[in-house]
Amino acid sequence: MTRKYIDCRKLGAAGACSLAISGNEEEVLDLAVIHGIVAHGHDDPYKLRLELRAQLQDAPEAKSALA
Ligand SMILES: [Zn+2]
Repeated sequence: MTRKYIDCRKLGAAGACSLAISGNEEEVLDLAVIHGIVAHGHDDPYKLRLELRAQLQDAPEAKSALA
């Protein structure tokens, strides 16, 4: 499964920080919503989740010697 990736710097939010999150889609969204609320003062988790879902990108796969 392709990892998804979201980069707070690219979200264009006021006070966007340097955080980037990668993982499966639901993991990234769960954490990103919490982050948006705690760190950036968002107050609508449902709307935020929809916005974040639209911003998900495929994460570059790390090369692994074990692959
Ligand atoms: Zn942030």
